[in-house]
Amino acid sequence: MQKLAPGQTVILATHNAGKLAELRSLLTPFGLKLPSAGERNLPAPDETGTTFAENATLKAVFAARASGLTALADDSGLCVDALDGAPGIDTALWGGPERNWDNAMIRVHLGLVEKGATGPDARRAEFVACLCLATPQGACATFEGRVAGTLIWPPRGTLGFGYDPMFQPEGFDVTFGQMSQAQKHGRTPQNPGLSHRARAFSRFVEACCET
Ligand code: IMP
Repeated sequence: MQKLAPGQTVILATHNAGKLAELRSLLTPFGLKLPSAGERNLPAPDETGTTFAENATLKAVFAARASGLTALADDSGLCVDALDGAPGIDTALWGGPERNWDNAMIRVHLGLVEKGATGPDARRAEFVACLCLATPQGACATFEGRVAGTLIWPPRGTLGFGYDPMFQPEGFDVTFGQMSQAQKHGRTPQNPGLSHRARAFSRFVEACCET
């Protein structure tokens, strides 16, 4: 895959405002132009894949074909050990049609209560992110990142998005919902970062960006 050049336009193939903000903030140092699929009025494809990588790929390939530009997509979610990896690729769906993350967090918590999962070890989970960069010529590459943690209750913090307020990453006593973007991603040129997205992003930068 050819490296992205400063000034190049890359479509961010997401309709999720939280993810869009995070991707733009992570990409700031690379001098790219970053319109979103929503801003270009591109429809969102059905996410029919069975893995994060398949769904990231179908979103990036769809946006690259529809726009004639290189596109970057992210597919991500929360995998809860005691729920056999659920919600996994269905993480967004657990928010319902109105994408209500308070309800989605309650559903995860009630699932854990039903399983008798009360201590931090029993409430272990991972956030997973897969990024896919696709060109209109048909090349594509995927990059995955994961972060392990425990699901606390009640949720804490108002920062971030989605399930952030109930996810406490391993080694921290605050949730992603209590962390600034800089703390949540914790990415420096020397450090691959803390969040699943930052870790996937570090792999993507190494392969695809001029540093
Ligand atoms: P999708 O990748 O658009 O299918 O959506 C994944 C869903 O996972 C998001 O809508 C969020 O609810 C959740 N999610 C993914 N990454 C994060 C994160 O960094 N913090 C909190 N929730 C997240």
